[in-house]
Amino acid sequence: MERTFLAIKPDGVQRGLVGEIIQRLEQKGFTLVGLKLLQVSKELASTHYGEHQAKPFFPGLVEFITSGPVVAMVWEGKGVIATARKMIGATNPLNSEPGTIRGDFGIDVGRNVIHGSDAPETAVKEISLWFGPEELVAWSSSLTPWIYE
Ligand code: UDP
Repeated sequence: MERTFLAIKPDGVQRGLVGEIIQRLEQKGFTLVGLKLLQVSKELASTHYGEHQAKPFFPGLVEFITSGPVVAMVWEGKGVIATARKMIGATNPLNSEPGTIRGDFGIDVGRNVIHGSDAPETAVKEISLWFGPEELVAWSSSLTPWIYE
């Protein structure tokens, strides 16, 4: 079953959106297989956002991600990588559709509440960057036959 890495950024944690975000993913039918709250180091933030190193917003992004606790999660389900990205919405909340997490809860691109892996290769890389194998729990919900045909 496919897995993705999602992280509620410091703005989402500070604003009390952790429960709301987890609820949306649970209610969709996805399975939570990894969850922790952590203070992100500059090193982890820089590695995670390595592809943006040369961009002007990079220093501010690293500062923001390390500015308070982050809730890191791994979610599992059919098509979870692409579907979670749809549920998250466009990078800039000004362009995110209402009904998406960023569309409902964000305004500025630098305070867009949540991160989600954008492709299968990125998901694998990010899951192993943020979680040790012992932190992930393989389990199956008793609701599985009511969610999958
Ligand atoms: N970002 C920013 N300013 C920008 C573009 C991006 O602060 O002009 C931040 C924003 O938090 C975004 C993150 O950098 O979520 C990573 O950017 P990416 O293009 O990978 O977007 P995402 O995959 O998060 O939608």
